Amino acid sequence: MSTVTFPLLALNRHRMATDGEGVTTLVAGAGCPLHCKWCINKRLLQEGNPQIVTAEELFERVKVDSLYFLASGGGITFGGGEPLLHADFIREFREICPAGWKITVETSLFVPKNYLAAVTDAVDLFIVDCKDMNQDTYSAYTGEDGSVMKENLEFLLQRTDPDRIIVRVPLIPEYNTAQAQESSAGELREMGIKRLDLFEYVKRD
Ligand code: SF4
Repeated sequence: MSTVTFPLLALNRHRMATDGEGVTTLVAGAGCPLHCKWCINKRLLQEGNPQIVTAEELFERVKVDSLYFLASGGGITFGGGEPLLHADFIREFREICPAGWKITVETSLFVPKNYLAAVTDAVDLFIVDCKDMNQDTYSAYTGEDGSVMKENLEFLLQRTDPDRIIVRVPLIPEYNTAQAQESSAGELREMGIKRLDLFEYVKRD
């Protein structure tokens, strides 16, 4: 049995069109290096009690929906928190789950490049929350350096089909404007991003 483990915070089954294609099970993991002001998972990340699972143990818990995944083109979506902190685990899970399951990650890409490199071939769809392409706005909102996300996105674009990347571009109350959102979208298009999702964050305390 594997020794690589995952800090499982929550499993959410039978999701449709919210985080990946087809029917998905969202697998939320603990830990995130960012400090987003309106984080929707703040309470879960701070107070949630993770169960430590191996890839085999997670597979046993999610395989009940295999037929739904295969029939709908769906699968497992790793979120959190920042799922790419658990890149080795995701690789292992990919190796033991059916080839027809789609593996999606919802990520900020704020991770060391070698973590991203470790999962590039194991992930079918990257859903990237870019926050804002302006460095000052990014830093103000997340407390961290936005150049990491941008460099990782360029790295990903060099190694994978752009159809496997969706970049979510938020309108962030009190931090950016619709104009700034459009400006981020334009910069992303110039980089080669084809799939963009513009939306608005909800403020949470
Ligand atoms: S990247 Fe996501 S999980 Fe992490 S702090 Fe920001 S909103 Fe929360």
